[in-house]
Amino acid sequence: MPKVFRVALDTPLRRLFDYLPPAPDQTTFPPVVGARVRVPFGRQRLIGLILEAADSSEVPAGRLKPILEVLDGTPVVDAGALALLGWAAQYYHHPIGEVLSSALPKALRMGASAAASEERWFATAAGVAARAHGEPRRAPRQRALLEFLSAGTAATAATLDEHHGSWREAARALTARGWIASAAVAIERSAEPHAARATGPELFAEQHTAVEAIGESLGGFRAFVLHGITGSGKTEVYLRLVERVVDAGHRALVLVPEIGLTPQLVGRFRERFGVPMAVLHSALTDSERLGAWREAFSGHARIVLGTRSAVFAPVPDLGLIVVDEEHDSSFKQHEGGFRYSARDLAVVRAQQTGVPVILGSATPSLETLHNVDAGRYTHLRLQRRAAHAQPPRLILLDLRKSAMQAGISMQAMLAIERHLAQDGQVLVFLNRRGYAPTLLCTACGWIAPCSECDARLTVHLGAGRLRCHHCGADAPLPPRCPVCGFAVKAVGQGTERVEEILGERFAGVAIARLDRDVVRKRGDMEAVVRRMASGEARILVGTQMVTKGHDFPNMTLVVVLNADQGLFSTDFRAPERLAQTIVQVAGRAGRGSRAGEVLIQTEFPDHPLLQNLLAAGYDGFAHVALEERSLASWPPFSRLAALRDSAKTREAALAFLSEARGLVPRPPRGVRLLGPVPAAMAKRAGRYHAQLLIESTQRARLHGFLDAWLPEVEGLRSARAVRWSLDVDPLELF
Ligand SMILES: [Zn+2]
Ligand SMILES: [Zn+2]
Repeated sequence: MPKVFRVALDTPLRRLFDYLPPAPDQTTFPPVVGARVRVPFGRQRLIGLILEAADSSEVPAGRLKPILEVLDGTPVVDAGALALLGWAAQYYHHPIGEVLSSALPKALRMGASAAASEERWFATAAGVAARAHGEPRRAPRQRALLEFLSAGTAATAATLDEHHGSWREAARALTARGWIASAAVAIERSAEPHAARATGPELFAEQHTAVEAIGESLGGFRAFVLHGITGSGKTEVYLRLVERVVDAGHRALVLVPEIGLTPQLVGRFRERFGVPMAVLHSALTDSERLGAWREAFSGHARIVLGTRSAVFAPVPDLGLIVVDEEHDSSFKQHEGGFRYSARDLAVVRAQQTGVPVILGSATPSLETLHNVDAGRYTHLRLQRRAAHAQPPRLILLDLRKSAMQAGISMQAMLAIERHLAQDGQVLVFLNRRGYAPTLLCTACGWIAPCSECDARLTVHLGAGRLRCHHCGADAPLPPRCPVCGFAVKAVGQGTERVEEILGERFAGVAIARLDRDVVRKRGDMEAVVRRMASGEARILVGTQMVTKGHDFPNMTLVVVLNADQGLFSTDFRAPERLAQTIVQVAGRAGRGSRAGEVLIQTEFPDHPLLQNLLAAGYDGFAHVALEERSLASWPPFSRLAALRDSAKTREAALAFLSEARGLVPRPPRGVRLLGPVPAAMAKRAGRYHAQLLIESTQRARLHGFLDAWLPEVEGLRSARAVRWSLDVDPLELF
């Protein structure tokens, strides 16, 4: 046996910890790399993962402690997964222990068994002997339980519930005397026979070409961009390839955006294949997540479908990875310490495993299109819409020349009326929930502010509350101005108000709303989708949520109420996000046999971005946008990392970043440090935020710099006064 085991622990320290082998009588399993162990750590006992075995340690032998317990007989994180997690820890410059812990369900980190198991109770040899002597004499319940367990094989809790009612107390007493014991026993699962499998629709030529191209590269790494306009049948391409993979005895991993994982999508996979699936997303309880992870880990699930963190799911004998809506920002983890891109890690995982990866989107990110231009990714196009649907017509409405009613122009109102009269359905898109973004006193000019953020409170009229969309602050709606006592007025529009205005204008027409205030629990979104799909509701008012995955064939008109929010942002990615949103929302129009109409309200109809999008579509936009990025040397033509922090005062937030910058008076060639600057919204949730950008045109230079610099940054005294994090390839700059 090796003399030393190196263990990763969930701590912010960038290192492994050495332990001696466990005492032979203290453990059920010999230690193997990838198994969980319980170890002493200071005064605590922690569960960690063995990453290496070695013959010696730099720590003097007298100071090394033995492993207390080995929890797994076989690795819970196999060599392939360790390679991916190791890569991620290095690339995102994050401690390996924390990276590993984000890849494992909480229940496993707490010590739950990796195999699906159930607790079984049995009588010990001492118990059998005691029963033969008529023990326990004065406890009839205990005696009955001991008799039952001595007579038969190990019993599950369910069996005991059935025969012995409330038996737990008796079991505790018998366990204390050493007469019975319990153990977790793995549940044997028989391979389920494949249920009847549905056949898919006939493929169009383009779909067929895509399926063949990707199908030919199964068994080796290659990255494909499946660039298909909305309604062109990308999902059918995924389904055909997953079918090939599953038929060949392999397994598929399918990643979808947070709000794209609908019961409809899961249903479509289940219906088609009738094979066991594991579904992983953020709304699972801890025990549901453990259950889904075990299905994936055991290999019982043939398809693993999930959101961001599912990129780390165990998938034995992986044959294919699909990332649907690869441009979606929910693939990027931008909270907490370990910030990663599941899309990018999916490509790394595919490369390490030697399988193809499909990045699907109607609006691929500029990074992805750049990889196509550079020849790294293979571009497959789907330009035809299913069922003879016509592409929608985009029209800009000049708000400066329009009569307005609560943010809706007269032309838009007339168009809605016309489409409703022709039995169409209408989508009204506005990326702002609530009733109104501002509460204003018309006498003294007071505006309801959030006391914790540099932000205004949003009016939620139905709930009678003022809420902050940045920190969650929540207060009753004041009837009068708290400063001068005059009447207050809600200014501007949110989805709640737009719903109200449309309800007044189109009395008798049912209106559905889709935003985060409506969708609070599982099933809420489905209820809204059902109302639209059945035709009961005719108008849908919604935020970004409406752009994902729902297909309403009768939707003939889309109105984008305010396209201007992204036109003049300081964030270099804002135009890309705006173009993607407009194209995705517009794609909701005219998916049936009827041509759709898309009206975009703007005060800047001559803005080149909008003009270009209208004239040349997303491709034309992307072409120009990539040229602009190249000229300005922004990603993907350079690499970025953001060192961010927050503190109780603005000064403390800036002081730490200034010191961090001061560590490198002359940065190495090809590396630039920009900042520090306060965030655009500096105060959020009572803390002040700031950032320092690190930029290089070469990835290796950037990472070499970070490797040398970060340990020094960590050692700064001022680091202890702030919360800081490093974000490699940040998606949002503030
Ligand atoms: Zn006032
Ligand atoms: Zn706030």
